Amino acid sequence: MPASAERSAAPVRRLSANPDAAAAFGYPAAAIGRSAVLGGIQRPAYRASSRLNWIERDDCWVVYDAHHLAPLRIEKAGWDAPAAFQRIGTFVSEAECLDKFGSLELVEFFARHGLVEKTSPSFGVSRDAGGAVCAPGAAASFSLTVLVQHSCNFGCVYCLNGPESYQTSDKSSVSIDHAKAVIRSLRRSAPDADASIYLSFFGGEPLLGWKKVIDIAAFAAAEFPRVAFNITSNLSLLPQPIVDLARRHRVTFCVNVDGPAPVHNKVRPFVNGRPSYDTVVANVRRLCDAGADVQLRMLVCSHNEAHIHETVDLHREIGAPVSLLTPLRGANSDATVFGDDLYATPKTVRSQVEALLRSRSDGVLDFYPAIEILNHIDTGTRVKQYCGADVQGSPIVDNKGNLYNCVWFVGNERFRMGAITESGMMLENEPNERFQSLNGIRPEQACARCNYREVCGGPCPATRIMDLDAALFERERQLKCAMTKPITDFLMEGLVNGRSFRSGYAGTIVPD
Ligand code: SF4
Ligand code: SF4
Repeated sequence: MPASAERSAAPVRRLSANPDAAAAFGYPAAAIGRSAVLGGIQRPAYRASSRLNWIERDDCWVVYDAHHLAPLRIEKAGWDAPAAFQRIGTFVSEAECLDKFGSLELVEFFARHGLVEKTSPSFGVSRDAGGAVCAPGAAASFSLTVLVQHSCNFGCVYCLNGPESYQTSDKSSVSIDHAKAVIRSLRRSAPDADASIYLSFFGGEPLLGWKKVIDIAAFAAAEFPRVAFNITSNLSLLPQPIVDLARRHRVTFCVNVDGPAPVHNKVRPFVNGRPSYDTVVANVRRLCDAGADVQLRMLVCSHNEAHIHETVDLHREIGAPVSLLTPLRGANSDATVFGDDLYATPKTVRSQVEALLRSRSDGVLDFYPAIEILNHIDTGTRVKQYCGADVQGSPIVDNKGNLYNCVWFVGNERFRMGAITESGMMLENEPNERFQSLNGIRPEQACARCNYREVCGGPCPATRIMDLDAALFERERQLKCAMTKPITDFLMEGLVNGRSFRSGYAGTIVPD
């Protein structure tokens, strides 16, 4: 969940422009005159948005601001529109704007699309009249992640669970009493009777402790009037009671199929090296046949970068409605850096994503993050930063009863947020404050100046919270850019050309 989001809405418009823009738009001369003659009164000044994205084509530009996502198509027609906008890069008076664009109505039209900002000395910059959609305060819906089991029966080449912090050789699993204590605590803090909980089971491999999953899920369903579950699993095993759980409740399974069989088997073998593809895919099909909600994920790394398009298509063929493309992080939870060889190349990722987008000629988007960006356009939500990890509203409980706000920091004493005691959740303020102070985008980082930031938010801040080399952040950033930028440009250009898009998935995606 993004930490901060704002609402905005503006229509998609086409625009033909030339130097005599007012005439081209048919505005009456009298109206232009009226706009310019109020001498002596402090009038608004204008400047071009400092974050315009220009897509140049032979005959036109498509221009948009990521805060508004209301693109305009500007015909070239002898007019150098980017240069004209550049010339009002700092605030200029109405009269100067009139001189540059030929009509204040036209400037206001640009303002409605977020291409131009308006200010006056007494009111400051006006961007948008939107309100926050992620209001802080008492939550009526909670999320809880239970680390059922820290050990795993797979030996993935990029496992994010460090052997030390996660103690992956420890085969113990979560205490049912601890999990129940957190659920009870959350229920007690709910402001109304109609509270809901989104309960995620995570690991290691959570289904190695599947009986506990069933018990904890039943307890949550008895405590909360509304429940939904998520199980992030390698799906190497699928006991029938878990399929039955999915029939009784809303359960979303998040499962990696990282490529066609040879690729998947290379990156996600069993711990003894045995291939896992056939077992995993057979279990995914079982779940889909049972009507369960299955999200198939692909962790994008050097082994599968050239198979992104093919893998998303494979996910559809297997039966899951949606794919999640997740770029590799820089290091595991022990802060052990993966190394250059495991990273995908941003250029290859970008061209695969572009090919994938082109292939969705019906406008139905079936992969994250394209669905998320489309959602920003539809709902008007904008992100400032990606991470909204919050131990109070969405705690993570490990197999020792410790509490964290992110799976990345499990076992890291600096970021242990508290523990379960007999009286419920005991949280410490100091680690949480430290975490929140470190997770923002820093001014020196490229994301701070990025024109796409409000649809992207930047990469996961875990490596910078760990204080790892800035080069790691940069690598992660480039991979995130390789997805965000082509998707956003594709949608903006499609909209001005009259295309419509919709999500092919109705469920909730929880980015990790
Ligand atoms: S399945 Fe998950 S927890 Fe297990 S080795 Fe692979 S990445 Fe790690
Ligand atoms: S990751 Fe890339 S696209 Fe996203 S905010 Fe940072 S620089 Fe911009």
